[in-house]
Amino acid sequence: MHDTPLIDLHTHTTASDGTFSPAALAQTAKTIGLSALALTDHDTIDGLVEFQETGRLLGLETIPGIEFAALWEKHHRPEIHIVGLGIDPHSPILLERMKDIRKSRDLRNRKMCEKLTSIGLHLSLEEVQANAGGEVITRAHFANVLLEKGYIRLRSDAFSRYISPGLPGYVEREFLSPALCIQTIKEAGGAAVLAHPTLYDLNPAQLEELVEELIPYGLDGIECFYSTYTPEQTRAISALAEKYHLLPSGGSDFHGKNKPDIHLGSGKGNLAIPYALWENLKKRTK
Ligand code: AMP
Ligand code: ZN
Ligand code: FE
Ligand code: FE
Repeated sequence: MHDTPLIDLHTHTTASDGTFSPAALAQTAKTIGLSALALTDHDTIDGLVEFQETGRLLGLETIPGIEFAALWEKHHRPEIHIVGLGIDPHSPILLERMKDIRKSRDLRNRKMCEKLTSIGLHLSLEEVQANAGGEVITRAHFANVLLEKGYIRLRSDAFSRYISPGLPGYVEREFLSPALCIQTIKEAGGAAVLAHPTLYDLNPAQLEELVEELIPYGLDGIECFYSTYTPEQTRAISALAEKYHLLPSGGSDFHGKNKPDIHLGSGKGNLAIPYALWENLKKRTK
């Protein structure tokens, strides 16, 4: 038992690429004794209604969130992730952005079906849709269908032969700009947090450059606690947060069975995120 109430501010469900339903996620958080839990699915708010409804029934504080993917147009143009916490799921600007993201994915999926079919791997959008079963369609579902139809023997062959950058079945995704992601989160009343900065392959100077660019857009915080950080990384990111007056956030990035070594709340066993972090971030929400 911990004396301090603990929380988790970064998690995924079946609404994106996790394996727990939003209700099961909230139920698990309650069972392990978390005091508050954010749901931050990739580029979608589809899980939030069920998540918040379950939270209400259980008496668990639920924080509606999202994890946006953005492209930073500097250096090697890394994909960066920006978490929004305490967003209003009914915000018209947020809903508009969700529509844009769906449209752009849809166009990309059609192009990928055409490209794959043109090299003899016949698959239709309907087949990929059926495999996704209502989830946001990603390359993971293309891989599943290629395997199902016997075009490959191993699922990983899809990525090594056909649907990774530079290969003949690949079509680039469109990304939002970091500015638009942060603006959308702010306009939806949320706090904007730079997720897991250690994963972007940036050196310390480049990471500072990124942070200096994002702060004027309204960045509120940065993930100082994260499942895969070493103690040194936790210290370095915490020092960065302090230098730029960014609020510390923290989360496990729980994905259920899709990341089996990462547990809700405790990550790889090393995480303990105090409620006080959310208390401070909450003051930045509307
Ligand atoms: P997308 O966002 O459509 O580009 O697809 C990203 C998804 O594809 C990820 O969430 C993974 O599930 C899957 N994926 C990407 N690269 C690989 C890989 N090398 N091996 C297995 N799955 C991958
Ligand atoms: Zn994910
Ligand atoms: Fe992420
Ligand atoms: Fe994540």
